Amino acid sequence: MARTYEPVIGLEVHAQLLTRSKMFCGCSTEFGAPPNTHVCPVCLGLPGALPVPNGGAVEMAIRAALALGCTVRNRSRFARKNYFYPDLAKNYQISQYELPLNEHGRLEIEVDGVKRRVGIVRIHLEEDAAKNLHPVGAGGDTLVDFNRGGTPLMEIVSDPDMRSAAEAEEYLRKLREILMFAGVNDGNLEEGSFRCDANVSLRPTGQKQLGTRVELKNINSFRFVRKAIEYEVMRQQSVLDSGGIVEQETRAWNVEQSRSFTMRSKEEAMDYRYFPDPDLPELVVSDEMIARARAQLAELPAEKRARYRSALGLTEYDASVLTSHPAISSYFESCTNELLKACEKPLSPQQAGKRCANFIQSEVMRYLKTEGLGLQVPVTASRLAELIAIVEIGAISGKMAKEVFAQMAATGKAAKKVVEQKGLSQISDASVIDGEVERLIQAHPEQVEQYRSGNKKVLGFFVGQVMKATKGSANPKMVNEALRKYLEG
Ligand code: ADP
Ligand code: MG
Ligand code: ZN
Repeated sequence: MARTYEPVIGLEVHAQLLTRSKMFCGCSTEFGAPPNTHVCPVCLGLPGALPVPNGGAVEMAIRAALALGCTVRNRSRFARKNYFYPDLAKNYQISQYELPLNEHGRLEIEVDGVKRRVGIVRIHLEEDAAKNLHPVGAGGDTLVDFNRGGTPLMEIVSDPDMRSAAEAEEYLRKLREILMFAGVNDGNLEEGSFRCDANVSLRPTGQKQLGTRVELKNINSFRFVRKAIEYEVMRQQSVLDSGGIVEQETRAWNVEQSRSFTMRSKEEAMDYRYFPDPDLPELVVSDEMIARARAQLAELPAEKRARYRSALGLTEYDASVLTSHPAISSYFESCTNELLKACEKPLSPQQAGKRCANFIQSEVMRYLKTEGLGLQVPVTASRLAELIAIVEIGAISGKMAKEVFAQMAATGKAAKKVVEQKGLSQISDASVIDGEVERLIQAHPEQVEQYRSGNKKVLGFFVGQVMKATKGSANPKMVNEALRKYLEG
């Protein structure tokens, strides 16, 4: 019988910090600029140029650390990680080694009802390498774009605490979310501002000692992380089942072929010859700086979800959709606050929250998706609140509101303007509605008879007729009430 094995996974994440300038020089970190336009002697590694740490990057790394329950060191060190590669002009990367800025954190995850606390070994600061390009038309040459060189990164190293590909994926999603809400990372996997290497090993179930690990590189989507780990677990399992031993190596995931390939074996593993960087003094972080970072730490997604549920009465699902990105949750929160202020009819926070949650999840998010706008909502939160407020007082119907929203998005006009110009205003005048209902009842005695003899479905027929006669602008609630009154009276 084949033995059973337990997968063991530890993740290393490189997350780009949201500073405007680089880690050790004043060059811009803007993405997508023409190659080699954001460079200077420091990030090009010219002899004699001296690095100066970016205080903003240090502050962000501390904020991330606090969000992840880490201890921040008052004194840490930058170290040189030496290797030779064209994307590294100095032939070393400035990183942190023996004394990282942050240590001993944790992240709670839950998969299929199973909770797990994943330890975070360390979060250290470092600079990114440049980018090698292999453009068509360069005659097979490799070109180097140094714009990315020197960009501030945090490396977040987990303990080998995860036990499945699904847990690894969940850890990464959670981590990305926390970093985004802490305001330190944009969570953009495609642009490479959140990158992950996965370490995978197997051990016989019940054994304490860890098995030999394989490191998987180059995985740039959550889906691929999962696939790459699942593939690796199966690969190691079949090696072990056939009596072989797993070799320690680094493998790269190939998206087209859905399999991984050896990049380098243990023998080829690099020795980075780390040593403290003599150009940089100890990084000193005072307790005041830590306290300030703590004060600046925004509400984290888990706390937000709990608050949306308790204070605003949202469902767990609604709360999770609205906290899927900081831009969405801040839009939702401003919209709710504005609605509470703007609405002529007094609303409770729960009512306002529910109205905004519904409209944002249905109309706003659908609009963003069909128009391919990402998270750029073309209608401000306060304008949306105005629209929801006029639905609330019955001036227009919920159905019309969708049309009005699309118009607002397309033209930049305020809700009231759109309603006015399109003559959309809902008929809430009871005498107009009553008049219409009376006329219909007289015109359709047969249907009235049917209704009165128990066929309540006929109500729908009458509602449809009123709507048709008023071109859809009658207040549906009032129409229903009026019809019942006449039919049953
Ligand atoms: P390195 O110095 O080569 O980066 P580390 O000891 O720092 O190695 O570990 C890097 C990552 O690998 C960490 O996330 C750690 O949890 C994970 N890891 C270490 N050993 C194992 C193992 N046997 N199986 C799975 N993951 C492991
Ligand atoms: Mg490592
Ligand atoms: Zn520079």
